[in-house]
Amino acid sequence: MTKRIPFISGNWKMHNTIAESKALAKAIADCKENKNNADIMIAPSYTSLAAVAEAVKGSKVAVAAQDVHFEEKGAFTSAVAPSQIKDAGASHVIIGHSERRSLFGDTDAILNKKVAAALKHGLTVVFCVGETLAEREADKTLGVIESQLENGLKGFTAEQLSSMVVAYEPVWAIGTGKTATPEQAQEVHASTRKYLSSKYGEDFASKVRIVYGGSVKTDNVDAIMAQPDVDGALVGGQSLVAEQFIRIINFN
Ligand code: PEP
Repeated sequence: MTKRIPFISGNWKMHNTIAESKALAKAIADCKENKNNADIMIAPSYTSLAAVAEAVKGSKVAVAAQDVHFEEKGAFTSAVAPSQIKDAGASHVIIGHSERRSLFGDTDAILNKKVAAALKHGLTVVFCVGETLAEREADKTLGVIESQLENGLKGFTAEQLSSMVVAYEPVWAIGTGKTATPEQAQEVHASTRKYLSSKYGEDFASKVRIVYGGSVKTDNVDAIMAQPDVDGALVGGQSLVAEQFIRIINFN
């Protein structure tokens, strides 16, 4: 079985001043404790990207933007281009977070263009998928996720997607304190891997990291990470407190 390196990531959402972001990033980067040898990623607001990239320089911590626009440049007021987030020091980008999908109208077609733009600029994509509570209750979870992957990643080869991380984030678990049970997470991760295998081949599927997000906390991370198809976490709330995020990085 392929051993996948754990990927522990924090999405800071619309929190923190530049000074607060720098301090948090430094506390995470300065911590030498990483017993699982996990890859670590933090995603501050655009305004803090450059300062955070500077603060973590030389450490194992990668910096991500929380979104990106698909155009290269031009009259797109408020949008930020892939070259601009790279210029600010980001190597990764989160695409398709459920808040982007539900609050800002990011459709599968838009997300597909964002993935294309990010890959063109060599950014590592963290591609988020997940079902709403109504979809889960209607037994549509696996179909919804397959369709988000099918449409969001349309047109790319396994080679192009080789660095991508998939984040399974059930919408009903994000910021709600309701976590999917480890078994629920495992079921979706396993079926997502199976889908990716049918689409991109066995080798791709055995290597791609599928991380879980949705109220991951210090007291539930160990059980979630114990699942064979859960390769890491995308953490919102608890990534804003250095000690909590460091404990999550050092899951048992
Ligand atoms: C997220 O922001 O992607 C997330 C999972 O948030 P939380 O951990 O707060 O539920």
